[in-house]
Amino acid sequence: MQIVWFKRDLRLVDHAPLTMASDLGPILPVYVLEPDLWKQPDLSLRQYVFLGECIDDLALGLRDHGQKLVIKIGECIQIFSELTEKYAVDGIWTYQETWNGWTYARDKRFRRWVKEKGIPFHELPRNGVIRRLKNRDGWSGKWHREMDKPLVTAIGSSVSGDEESDAMPLGKVLGLTNDYCVGRQAGGRGPALEILNSFLSERGEGYTKEMSSPVTAFNSCSRLSPHLAFGTVSIREVYQMTKSQSSGIKLQPKSIRGKWPSALKSFSSRLRWHSHFIQKLEDDPRIEFENMHVGYNGLRENNFNEEYFKAWAEGRTGYPMVDACMRALSATGWINFRMRAMLVSFASYHLWLHWREPALYLARLFTDYEPGIHYSQVQMQSGTTGINSVRIYNPIKQGIDHDPLGVFIKKWVPELQDMELRNLHTPWLSTEKIGDYPLPIVDERTGRSLAMQKIYDVRKGASHRARSTHVLKQHGSRRLAKKRSPKKSKKDPISGSLF
Ligand SMILES: Cc1cc2nc3c(=O)[nH]c(=O)nc-3n(C[C@H](O)[C@H](O)[C@H](O)COP(=O)(O)OP(=O)(O)OC[C@H]3O[C@@H](n4cnc5c(N)ncnc54)[C@H](O)[C@@H]3O)c2cc1C
Repeated sequence: MQIVWFKRDLRLVDHAPLTMASDLGPILPVYVLEPDLWKQPDLSLRQYVFLGECIDDLALGLRDHGQKLVIKIGECIQIFSELTEKYAVDGIWTYQETWNGWTYARDKRFRRWVKEKGIPFHELPRNGVIRRLKNRDGWSGKWHREMDKPLVTAIGSSVSGDEESDAMPLGKVLGLTNDYCVGRQAGGRGPALEILNSFLSERGEGYTKEMSSPVTAFNSCSRLSPHLAFGTVSIREVYQMTKSQSSGIKLQPKSIRGKWPSALKSFSSRLRWHSHFIQKLEDDPRIEFENMHVGYNGLRENNFNEEYFKAWAEGRTGYPMVDACMRALSATGWINFRMRAMLVSFASYHLWLHWREPALYLARLFTDYEPGIHYSQVQMQSGTTGINSVRIYNPIKQGIDHDPLGVFIKKWVPELQDMELRNLHTPWLSTEKIGDYPLPIVDERTGRSLAMQKIYDVRKGASHRARSTHVLKQHGSRRLAKKRSPKKSKKDPISGSLF
């Protein structure tokens, strides 16, 4: 028999290890809950509860096929030792996982163990990410070919009937504290398909324009991210549904296509970005912990201001847009891309905090935490990749541009409920009484220009360019490099690729 080890691909459709194992005979579907993983500083209760819902749904799906999901709690080598002693196991099937440092180390240990035991272990590529990739050239073409392959679905007969399953423990048993995520999205394949369908048929039309503002983004973005992170749907499924929707729309007269063509095109590109960013972590697991470009080492490490960090984390910086975003994220587990970028930019530039602690804090708040995207993006928004244009978001301008009527700010910062709109984005300039909302912890303009100066001092350094070329070669998008052949501006001589 074959063991199918479910990790973060909690579905039955388009699950290659499940299909391939099922082709060979009876299977034992297993999920291993690893308490040590949940002790890591990037994980949180909201992700665990979401995971629990995905597992319940997966178990129900298997039950409909007359099978049982066997849940085991413990250390995975120990669990698989017991299973392989009990059953005649011909192979263990799973997906390659590109996740955090803990799972990376666990996978290395596990591979050594199966090798010693002589157990055939089949780890299949996930979402177009390529293991042991030698060169980024041609990556995008390979990703598209992978996404165009037919979906696979087959579930073999099971041997799991008598195998005892452990109950998923409560989060507090694992040491996870309540993080009050009252607006968290629901986990499981049902909710995933529901939001995918509503996005592709109704909500998504204004996507291109509406994704940037937190007023509209909660509805106009797909909200698929936690589902892609836990694999209740595969990227291939989403990509193919988007493509088919796109082809359908192209058949319609131009006059009734509305904004769908550009919306679906932007959305489809982002599915590729998902894998593109995870490929960076797969190629260089170091970027979870260290600056992508070593030229930035030592720049912020000794300047960590705990008070600033605390104010940022609690949504009490005195900048209404920053605070509203942090509070909304904390209560819902999600915020849109631009506002994530602004939160990191504010912490890294205005507050001059090294990115690692803010990254861990945000990771815990994101139900959709996906290390490959997360650390690459955090480093991009902190200016430590050395290959991206330096972009420092002005939180006042972001508020004026993306919440012009103050709806979002007033919802999440009730202290400003009665503030007149003309003062809402700069309440410290107002003579109105503000209750206990804080004054800005730093001056926006001073913080920005000091940060800019420090970053450009590094960028002007003699060895910066050579190291950037190396980073660009290893991680840069070839598509963008082709599209915008690097312009050498005097100010920012090496910014060639946005991604
Ligand atoms: C500092 C920072 C940290 C981030 N951390 C994460 C994270 O931990 N997990 C995560 O899934 N996304 C992360 N993102 C990327 C992006 O913000 C989210 O993917 C997006 O907001 C999720 O909402 P959605 O599913 O509605 O996205 P949609 O806009 O509907 O996009 C669909 C899917 O495309 C992918 N995608 C969209 N934008 C990006 C992007 N810029 N880069 C890579 N993939 C993208 C995601 O898988 C997303 O679910 C981060 C961005 C920043 C700036």
